[in-house]
Amino acid sequence: MKIIYVDLDGVVADFDRGKKEHPLGNITPYIGRPDKLPGVYENLDPVEDSIESVNKLLNHPDFDVYFLSTAPWDNPDAWTHKRLWVVKYFEEKLIRKRLILCHHKHLMIGDYLIDDRRFNGASEFQGKWIHFGSEEYPNWKSVLKYLNIG
Ligand SMILES: [Mg+2]
Repeated sequence: MKIIYVDLDGVVADFDRGKKEHPLGNITPYIGRPDKLPGVYENLDPVEDSIESVNKLLNHPDFDVYFLSTAPWDNPDAWTHKRLWVVKYFEEKLIRKRLILCHHKHLMIGDYLIDDRRFNGASEFQGKWIHFGSEEYPNWKSVLKYLNIG
């Protein structure tokens, strides 16, 4: 089995849209720090095709899937909200205890990391970094194609 890590924001959860639609988005001290917006991680919409695609991975016998996300240190509620978000959109038995929150993704051992940003160790990941949203992997369709999943 291949170990595959899936980032949340910008890959599975639509953080960009969530921060734009948040009522405090244009108010100090949240300008430039959307990660501190109260409750912003709680009600994010899924990224297009993300739920179906991750479910394909979760149900695939060749992949051992974990969510690997960074929760803002200065927004402790975000840690709780990410835990609640994954059970809102995925069948709990498939993802139970498969949420890893950390700032050092390069320390995780595995084969693939699907992540939209290079930060928090993503670009130094020892396996293959699938740069979600890049020209090579612009969307979930291209990611599944790369992983040979129809
Ligand atoms: Mg991200």
